[in-house]
Amino acid sequence: MTPSDQTRRASLLLIYTGGTIGMKQDPSTQALSPFDFSQILEEVPELRKFAYRIDSYTFDPIMDSSDVEPGLWQSLAKLILEKYDMYDGFVVLHGTDTMAYSASALSFMLENLAKPVIFTGSQLPIGIPRTDGKENLVSAIEIAAAKDKDGHAIVPEVCIYFDNMLMRGNRASKVSSDNFTAFRSMNMPPLAEAGISIRYNTPLIIRPSDWDSGLTIHTGLDTRVSILKIHPGITPQVVRNILCGEETRAVIMETYGCGNAPCKDWFINLVRQAAASGKVLLNVTQCLSGTVNMHLYSNGKALLEAGVVSGYDSTTESALGKLFFLLGQTGDNTLVKELLNRNFRGEISI
Ligand code: ASP
Repeated sequence: MTPSDQTRRASLLLIYTGGTIGMKQDPSTQALSPFDFSQILEEVPELRKFAYRIDSYTFDPIMDSSDVEPGLWQSLAKLILEKYDMYDGFVVLHGTDTMAYSASALSFMLENLAKPVIFTGSQLPIGIPRTDGKENLVSAIEIAAAKDKDGHAIVPEVCIYFDNMLMRGNRASKVSSDNFTAFRSMNMPPLAEAGISIRYNTPLIIRPSDWDSGLTIHTGLDTRVSILKIHPGITPQVVRNILCGEETRAVIMETYGCGNAPCKDWFINLVRQAAASGKVLLNVTQCLSGTVNMHLYSNGKALLEAGVVSGYDSTTESALGKLFFLLGQTGDNTLVKELLNRNFRGEISI
């Protein structure tokens, strides 16, 4: 079988969760409403040229991704497991607003993935002439179907494809509300770039250690996590409420630069108090690129000594998914702190 035979016969599952991409303008009212995805080949005739088998699955209800909750991620993981042997790859159509959160969470929930799970969406609905949705969809499908000469998926990872770029899902963030370049992966080069052809950055792509051992899903998520964004003028009351709230097991601290925060007594005392109560305190930077290094400045060192752990060069979206996943695996916060130093799915550079 030649490589082209292999890709021509690929079968894909297109999963529609909602978002702008699946909206169509009603010519009479001009209002945007979702279209029936079982008619996808009629709506996007370009897909016929592939001659892949493309089935679709539509979530009910479909949603603006601002409404996405971890329940959707659990349903997605279960659906992918249920259909895993029937398809060569999965394309998830999702609103852009929380796509980076969903792709991050799924990357941790799907273990030993040997098939592509490619999230995509668009800034303009697919029925509008200037839409970015058709290119995003068509290329995401091509990537989800792509196999190497041994018949293995070229990108067996959870990714986001957007505006000619394939990014590791747990490395991407939404950076623009209105440009077609809506996502960037600042700390990790793209896994592929689409021009006249799709150029894969093969050395960066993570492959399963064993192609045949099967997919395992982790749907037990513990969402008792808060995010504390440090800013000039932040008050002791706000910091106490977030760091010491009884309802959280972990707090992501979004700090300045390479992991710095105020070293005023009241602030460090609250951090110490939260750490002493057993909370996991994870430091990620507010900067778009670069990493946390708490050894560089005395303000960073004060956090380290107070019990804060490094999130390295993680995005906030990825840190949230990783904490939900790890807290869901164990009730032991000390173990979670240790595991945060492990690179599970290419989410941190260590
Ligand atoms: N609000 C929409 C959503 O995230 C935006 C989009 O799809 O681009 O569902």
